[in-house]
Amino acid sequence: MSTLRELVWIEHDHFRGWGCSECAWVFNSSGAPTGKSLDESKRNFELQRDKEFKLHVCADRPRAKSQSTKHDVKQDWEKLYRAAVLESDRSKLLQRVEDAEAAILERSRSLSKSPANSGKEQEAITRALYILSLLRARAGD
Ligand SMILES: [Zn+2]
Repeated sequence: MSTLRELVWIEHDHFRGWGCSECAWVFNSSGAPTGKSLDESKRNFELQRDKEFKLHVCADRPRAKSQSTKHDVKQDWEKLYRAAVLESDRSKLLQRVEDAEAAILERSRSLSKSPANSGKEQEAITRALYILSLLRARAGD
């Protein structure tokens, strides 16, 4: 591979997150960051991201003109949540936290209508809200 690829932050209408500067690869970790604390969640996320970035092959993922991103509500809150956890700019942090909380509450409401298979996600939501409350405190320092 001759080009030097980099891990870059991407913001589109449908996607906000980390991707490759040279191909269509994006980091789509399944599930919310895990960890007992904010720092641990962040570290786990970054480790996983860096690992997957190293392993991907640019040639396998040529940039498509129209990337078909399946719209998935569950993914949406997780993306917003991740964006909040990983936001390093304090002036934007509060906004990110609020975006994520709004998406989570919305999701939470729709989950409560179909509680049968939402146990796992509900757990992730509870954890995410807790981490967001820590972030909110940090943003207000
Ligand atoms: Zn690539």
